[in-house]
Amino acid sequence: MSEPGTFGRIALIGVGLIGSSIAHAARRGGLATHIAGYSRSAESRAAAERIGFCDSVHDDIAACVKDADIVILCLPIGALGSATEAAAPMLKRGAILTDVGSVKMAVIRDAGPYVPDGVHFIPGHPIAGTENSGPESGFATLFDDRWCILTPPPGADAAAVERLSSFWRGLGSKVDIMEPRHHDMVLAITSHLPHLIAYNIVGTAADLEDVTQSEVIKYSAGGFRDFTRIAASDPTMWRDVFLNNREAVLEMLQRFTEDLTALQRAIRWGDGDSLFTLFSRTRAIRRSIIEAGQESAAPNFGRDKTT
Ligand code: NAP
Repeated sequence: MSEPGTFGRIALIGVGLIGSSIAHAARRGGLATHIAGYSRSAESRAAAERIGFCDSVHDDIAACVKDADIVILCLPIGALGSATEAAAPMLKRGAILTDVGSVKMAVIRDAGPYVPDGVHFIPGHPIAGTENSGPESGFATLFDDRWCILTPPPGADAAAVERLSSFWRGLGSKVDIMEPRHHDMVLAITSHLPHLIAYNIVGTAADLEDVTQSEVIKYSAGGFRDFTRIAASDPTMWRDVFLNNREAVLEMLQRFTEDLTALQRAIRWGDGDSLFTLFSRTRAIRRSIIEAGQESAAPNFGRDKTT
């Protein structure tokens, strides 16, 4: 357990789901002496003020990052380059600049060039989230027992990496260090492709001409409902993920399509053994995810009806 306020002044650029959750969790852990939050819209700033998870709320990035010890970019991937450019002149020497973006190579490409000398740039990605967005959707326990992956560039200051790791542990996370290209490949299969499939299957169901929209809603079985939850995720965030992790997603999509074709063949030729073997393997994977504490075995995945 660290001393109260041990991480000094924290600046959150963006106070949507992830930014506001960091603020709540930092408050819970007493990690910061001051939490500053920036948002571009008056509506989100008003929500942040009303909920009160920041000590100061700003409409200007430079003012928000002034004197900050840790600056965390919590915006869609496509906005990270210009946000870093706006923050750069006010970043304190020795400060840590990090982000929470779901793609890491693109962040290094877009934000990296604007990072001033003497500022420790350590990209990161908490593997935690929900389908909700905006300042009202954040909560303090979002990162508890979830992984946060840091992708420090070669030559990054080891003490700064440890400091940021310790901050994430203070938010409740477990921390892993990974090479950014590898991160993007792993997340393409574990997160990005499942979202693409969910967006696609819900879109296909909505487009079916001989099944009405009301039937899709009325008779939606558990499997479909779970896809609709994923497919309700923020359109801006996910557009940016696919535009910025193109190669890895296309590579995984290619493999997925080949495996889908094999399944199609098994169904066509009545090859029950192949179907049974695959479904048994996949069932074992789900069990290992539950055993690893990354999912609940409770009915309806432990979610109540409203989430
Ligand atoms: P969010 O709830 O939609 O919040 C993002 C905030 O970014 C919004 O509040 C919005 O501010 C601001 N914003 C959007 N476009 C902007 C722009 N062009 N310039 C300046 N501000 C802009 O999203 P989030 O879920 O917190 O996601 C933030 C980051 O976390 C993304 O990079 C995402 O990849 C990553 N991430 C998300 C999840 C997840 O499950 N959601 C999980 C891990 C990582 P205003 O309200 O003021 O417009």
